[in-house]
Amino acid sequence: MINLGHFSTSYTVAREKFLKAAESVELPVHSISHDLLGPNNEVLAVDAVHVGDPEATRLIIVISGTHGVEGLTGSACQSAWLSQLQQTALPDDVAVLLIHAINPYGVAWHRRVNEDNVDLNRNFISHDGSGICNPYYAQVHEFMIPTAYDGEERVTTDLALAEIRNELGEDVFQIATLGQSSHPDGFYYSGDKPVWSNLVLRKLLDTYALKRKTVSVIDLHTGLGAYGYGLVGIANDPGTPELQWARDWYGEAMTTFVEVGQLFGYPDYSAYTDGMLICGIRKMLPDASVISGGIEFGTYGPDEIQAAERSDAWLYAHGSNAPQETKEAIRRDLLEVYQPPKTDWQEMVLTRAGQVMRQTVNGIANLPLR
Ligand SMILES: [Zn+2]
Repeated sequence: MINLGHFSTSYTVAREKFLKAAESVELPVHSISHDLLGPNNEVLAVDAVHVGDPEATRLIIVISGTHGVEGLTGSACQSAWLSQLQQTALPDDVAVLLIHAINPYGVAWHRRVNEDNVDLNRNFISHDGSGICNPYYAQVHEFMIPTAYDGEERVTTDLALAEIRNELGEDVFQIATLGQSSHPDGFYYSGDKPVWSNLVLRKLLDTYALKRKTVSVIDLHTGLGAYGYGLVGIANDPGTPELQWARDWYGEAMTTFVEVGQLFGYPDYSAYTDGMLICGIRKMLPDASVISGGIEFGTYGPDEIQAAERSDAWLYAHGSNAPQETKEAIRRDLLEVYQPPKTDWQEMVLTRAGQVMRQTVNGIANLPLR
């Protein structure tokens, strides 16, 4: 039975459900508090729950909230999985670490980015000064953030963006949106140092993952792709055993980031995947075999998502004096493009998330001993 009661529209309710699910299976929660508060003065924290043998050599890490607002759906997947633990036990030598709302500020404020306007999924670059070099972003930046929420002025910026997109060509426009280190107030910004959530992740890995031999990561996202379908994407390099294992576990219903790059004609896709959280974990655990994976649950078309994202960017750049109802409408719209309030969508998500978890648990359990 699929229980859609695991879904929430606010961080606080999602967190309560997650903590309750942990309590129902008598597991302790390791919470790390954030200094900032949510829009209704809610306390913000990252919560981690470890399931299974702390000495197990195989660990599955499931993360929600890398892209803030997308984390409400990730939270539902995590709570649903925890709740079913009453009926199923983990195989020998397999443990699971659930990390709830790694970017709690973004989840609570219904933003994709964090408290520093950083896209956490671009923040795991080396921070040696070079950053993500993306000359195309500078060409679209001024049109990406509208100067007005609606009316004629908004229409003018939207038209200007459409024009530059047409001029650059679709491939270049898409590359422009892959990440950048040049505009701290812009979209897809990498940050110039590891942000709070990045440091918290490291701390959690130091506590729970350092001694593991095989680690499979599932970072939960929503937005891109076919409505309701959860596409598994793996960021390991071609020819590596980790990529082959993932293929064996997930079959044809899996893609790799290299394939995505080729599909869209990106010249050097790895320059952009380098900053992703799932690749960051691989760098943080150099002694383990790490399968860097994620699930992307599709919602609506990219243009619809981008329109909501641009209104959100307007709100934070220019909208501090906007009426309360405008602010709420923008937050509501952003939530809806990342978590459609539709029964069919939510059923598809929980079904698929449960399936991928089962495949991962069985897959990692059946790997030969190292
Ligand atoms: Zn995402």
